[in-house]
Amino acid sequence: MRILWFCIPAYGHTNPTIEVVRELTRRGHEVRYYSFEEFRDKIEGAGADFVSCDSYLPAVDAKTERKLREVSTTEMSVISFRTVGILDPVISQDIETWRPDVVVTDSACFWGKLTALKFGLPWVCSTTTFAFNKNSAQYMQQSVSEIADMVFGLPRMNREIRKLRPLGYHVKSALDIVQNKPDDNTIVYTSRTFQPCAETFDETHYRFVGPSVRDVEPRAKDGRPLVFASLGTVINDRPDFYRTLIEALRDEDVDLLISCGKAFDPAVLGDLPSNVRVEHYVDQMEVLSRTSLFVTHCGMNSASEGMWMAVPELLFPLTGEQRAVARRVAEVGAGTLLDEGDAKDSMRLKAAVLSALVDEGISAGAARMRDDLRSCAGPIGAADFIEQVGT
Ligand code: UDP
Repeated sequence: MRILWFCIPAYGHTNPTIEVVRELTRRGHEVRYYSFEEFRDKIEGAGADFVSCDSYLPAVDAKTERKLREVSTTEMSVISFRTVGILDPVISQDIETWRPDVVVTDSACFWGKLTALKFGLPWVCSTTTFAFNKNSAQYMQQSVSEIADMVFGLPRMNREIRKLRPLGYHVKSALDIVQNKPDDNTIVYTSRTFQPCAETFDETHYRFVGPSVRDVEPRAKDGRPLVFASLGTVINDRPDFYRTLIEALRDEDVDLLISCGKAFDPAVLGDLPSNVRVEHYVDQMEVLSRTSLFVTHCGMNSASEGMWMAVPELLFPLTGEQRAVARRVAEVGAGTLLDEGDAKDSMRLKAAVLSALVDEGISAGAARMRDDLRSCAGPIGAADFIEQVGT
């Protein structure tokens, strides 16, 4: 079978697909994966044919770049719609000559979704966050600025949508392309237990396959407990938070490891106490295997990886989507929410970390979620579903 795969340039959206691609190529299928240079090695390593899209992304000015870093839905959507137009000749020709049987596209990758619709190909939506309909959308407690960004951005998005019509792409509205429809074949990288409003997604079209992670053996947690903090790979420019956390734990009998992201300069944090290390990027699964408490921004992948390894979480979400994940982690009992006030005050943050470290409730909740997530069908189930849709 020939599988044409599309994803946006984001670790959180690409990482969960890798094991599924590996499983498909292991079964002898051909996977052609449109992605970005940063991910080439991982994708080729999973046996797929990599197509580089870097040169097709529209140029952005400094202001747009800043908004993108703040995850502005409008800016991301405008760029995505423009990318559809730029990639159109390349993808159209590939479809003519290579003739894929099925398209798999990330839920936020407009050029993938629109390609499948334009050419009438069977397709599967790869959803690395929660499956999204009007019920689960209520979980996204968006901030006033996030809502304003979307409302004021709608006319700009609609202008971009109109430009795509002559190319054969017929989109009614931006919402139409973002939201999952009830009969869209969809893989979701979590369990039914963790998905909010799971009963509103039917069993035929929605496969909750669980997180797609590279498993590692948990290590014995003797000696000083390790507190691991990461705000993910997108919005991690938070020196104030890192400083407060370092201050909170500098004299405590714990080790603190912070993954600060590739663009952040750790030198701005000054001299570090001997129990603190700051890294640009770590092997997160390996680190989680020896972590006692995970201070996380609640990106879907990070929150799931923490639960997969039965590590209790201290939840510090920064966007609407992350707040939804955090709320769910707290609801299933695998973590505790940190409020903005705690995050700004080193004494309060110290108290929150130390009490989470000995909280038997969240440690039992994390163990329950480990068992739940590990009982899902995983990459094998995702590959079965893609085969089923493609034949
Ligand atoms: N990640 C990692 N090392 C790091 C930071 C992040 O391996 O130092 C991985 C992490 O394991 C996860 C992904 O990057 O799979 C981040 O995705 P997530 O959805 O948690 O957050 P995002 O970065 O998209 O906000």
